[in-house]
Amino acid sequence: MWFLKKHATPPLAEPAPPTPPERWTWSASTETAALTLSLFWLLSANRPFLSAALKGREWADASAWGFAAALALMVLALHFLLVALVGVRHAFKPLAALLIVGTAFASHFMDRFGVYLDPSMLRNVLRTDAKEAGELFSWSLLPHLLWQAGLPLLALWRLRLKPRRWTRAVLVRAGTLLAALVVIVGAILAVFQPFSSLMRNQKELRYLITPANYLWSIGSVLAADAKGAATPRQPIGLDAAPGPNFVKRTRPTLLVFVVGETARAANWGLSGYARQTTPELAATPGVINFAQVTSCGTNTEVSLPCMFAPVGRRAYDEERIRGSESLLHVLGRAGVGVQWVDNQSGCKGVCDGLPTAFVKDWNPAGLCAGGRCLDEGLLYGLQERLTQAQGTQVLFLHQLGNHGPSYFRRHPPAFARFQPACEQDDLRQCSREQIVNAYDNALLYTDHLLATLIQRLKAASDRVDTALIYVSDHGESLGENNLFLHGIPYAIAPDVQKRVPMVMWFSSGFAQTRGLDVACLAQRASQPATHDHLFHTVLGLVDVRTALHEKTWDLTAGCVAP
Ligand SMILES: [Zn+2]
Repeated sequence: MWFLKKHATPPLAEPAPPTPPERWTWSASTETAALTLSLFWLLSANRPFLSAALKGREWADASAWGFAAALALMVLALHFLLVALVGVRHAFKPLAALLIVGTAFASHFMDRFGVYLDPSMLRNVLRTDAKEAGELFSWSLLPHLLWQAGLPLLALWRLRLKPRRWTRAVLVRAGTLLAALVVIVGAILAVFQPFSSLMRNQKELRYLITPANYLWSIGSVLAADAKGAATPRQPIGLDAAPGPNFVKRTRPTLLVFVVGETARAANWGLSGYARQTTPELAATPGVINFAQVTSCGTNTEVSLPCMFAPVGRRAYDEERIRGSESLLHVLGRAGVGVQWVDNQSGCKGVCDGLPTAFVKDWNPAGLCAGGRCLDEGLLYGLQERLTQAQGTQVLFLHQLGNHGPSYFRRHPPAFARFQPACEQDDLRQCSREQIVNAYDNALLYTDHLLATLIQRLKAASDRVDTALIYVSDHGESLGENNLFLHGIPYAIAPDVQKRVPMVMWFSSGFAQTRGLDVACLAQRASQPATHDHLFHTVLGLVDVRTALHEKTWDLTAGCVAP
């Protein structure tokens, strides 16, 4: 009836008459297109989720098939809901294009490295620098992108969205959104018991549902950042003051704190790895090795703020940690000279407002190329600092360390001792042996850096009381269980991503002045320790007094003069 009327009086709001069909085009309603896209993602990007969620099910049992079907329906309806909710008529195509590309990249990294796209991983992705990101892209991505992004983009380009009168469009959209919601609720109710136990026992699995995972995680990171930007960092340790030992020191004191990157305890020579990856430290007298150290996080974004917080993993609260000042501020408050020197992607907020330098800005001769510097660049200016040292100082050096996947780029050629070593940015082009060799070569270079540092600190110790602490921020997976790199949610991360090397060294002047019994501390080193100990141990070593200092978390407690 209204069709006839249309000819009689064409209303202004009526959609334009259909254009003649073009070759190689298809037409569909926005809802059909959204459903097709969701189906494509279910089949192309959600294999990791479905296989993890269905792991260990008995396929002879009909309920396993029912459960699989319910999960698939949930994923399908959820993505339909997401796309249909925001993909209104003219926004649909650009939005779908963006999501197609984002999802193709996401599924590549999930497949390749076994990562979960949770907020902390997304924080890492958003904070990474161009150089770091560049190493993750290789030509092998191309076939994957061609079929996961190229194909749907082509289909999207040739799609003609069927026009609808706006009243009808609103009704249809509301109806399909409601239907999607009903499908999700119905599917959950149908398999409620196994589904709720899955979500309770393996919460992290939801971060495999793609693209909902990264959309949710980006949203939550941006929301947390906006909240953080609106509220200034909470000052901590307002009572921090020099202790009696600090006050009576007459010689300059320099503690160097090296923040390592991606070094795992399993491959650390000093901690019993079958291969000697720490020959120089092993030959350095007085090095104390802590063989059982657990990191706070499995990525830099979590570990760095956490290792310099008074309470880290033992009562983990990301919002409190990110919203508060760090150990560095407490030291500064007590009159310690603090500086952060970075050879990576920044201090993640722990040095906000404090003196900071970047090795790439110094551009030391022969150590930098293409915006990246070798870690020996961190030693630039150290001699001058030692010669001019006054008062009590803590110098933080943030390494590039074993940052993957391009381990072979982390050391000068002379350290490529374990061969054959992987020399590809794309780890899948290499055998496991080659990957481990490249990783171990990079560790040899960290060993060299630390031993050199100790030598220099020792050489200056006739005038300056010097000490060194080295600890890595998190570990790394090198292909065990088909996992690579790091960043698996903490609760389910393998030990190789959470166990890190830690060493300390003290000049005899430092030990004497501080009243530190080095043998006693060496004894303590055979016991387990965690990143949670660092805040309190550093305060204890330089003798900064504050109510925040907890003796039970100070590794030197019982080994230093009170
Ligand atoms: Zn890291």
